[in-house]
Amino acid sequence: YQAKSGGDSVATYDSTRDAASTDQLALLAELREALQTDDQLVLVLQPAVDLATGAPTGVEALIRWRHPRRGLLSPADFIRAVENSDQLGSFTRYVLDKALTVAAGWAGEGLDIPISVNLSARSLLDPRLPSEIAEALCRHQVPADRLVLEITETVVMSELEVIDQVLSALRAMGVQLAVDDFGTGFSSLSFLARVAVDELKVDRSFVLRMGDSPQAAAIVRYTVGMAHELGLRVVAEGVETAAQRSALTELGCTAAQGYHFFKPMPADKIAAVLNSLARQTPTNVLPLRADG
Ligand code: C2E
Ligand code: MG
Ligand code: MG
Ligand code: MG
Repeated sequence: YQAKSGGDSVATYDSTRDAASTDQLALLAELREALQTDDQLVLVLQPAVDLATGAPTGVEALIRWRHPRRGLLSPADFIRAVENSDQLGSFTRYVLDKALTVAAGWAGEGLDIPISVNLSARSLLDPRLPSEIAEALCRHQVPADRLVLEITETVVMSELEVIDQVLSALRAMGVQLAVDDFGTGFSSLSFLARVAVDELKVDRSFVLRMGDSPQAAAIVRYTVGMAHELGLRVVAEGVETAAQRSALTELGCTAAQGYHFFKPMPADKIAAVLNSLARQTPTNVLPLRADG
């Protein structure tokens, strides 16, 4: 929200903030309604692909709010408000329920692909989370290891004692954990040393700058190397160009996600895309590298 207020004069600061917080309250009241309907909060889905074969390695669920008056809202417009409200629990359950509905549909089509759901770090402070997730998996008959929970490490470090139990319970159930936006937190490595995870997602900012920043390229290379050494999967986020794709392959990265492959798409499109990816040969999916 600081990006939106834009005013730099101290005199207008308070009124801007008041207006902003009044609007947040209105938004939260509207969210309460949206959580009761079935068509306002929708998931779009973005596959990640294996860089060598083009096969889908997973699909990430991303929330959108089709607001009746405000138009289409992306997470940046409302997630922060939800996280700081008493509706985070209902919101998290709603997203998980929608995501598992999608995943359950794939099983019916013979697609065996994990679905990734983004969790707000704060929801890991709720000791009821593991049993709620267990219940949802059971209700949708989705095996626990088909669910990947994406968490960002920044907020979490300060509360690590508290969330240790929640994360251990989730791991014991067989749910997979991914560190999202890896490298952007203040304590990424401490987080990795403490929490057993299955996957690292290299933040888009490094992928974006990799081409002209030796620093960014080194960060990607070392993240990929470390992931391999630790036996973790690694996925590069935000890949937009063929040049980025080949650079990632050269750095040893094996999986990627981004507009270059797929933009997030509506739930009713995803099964057809996954089916066609599964049927195609690798060379049909991704053009061969010039040097390959
Ligand atoms: P994220 O988990 O790091 O998701 C990646 C974001 O990058 C998504 O933005 C996606 O649409 C976008 N993206 C994917 N490929 C590209 C690309 O090639 N180029 C560019 N420029 N962007 C790309 P989105 O959907 O706006 O989500 C933003 C953030 O909001 C997510 O970042 C995630 O942290 C959070 N979020 C999304 N859905 C949920 C949710 O259901 N619950 C919670 N708690 N957070 C969510
Ligand atoms: Mg994510
Ligand atoms: Mg991310
Ligand atoms: Mg990111």
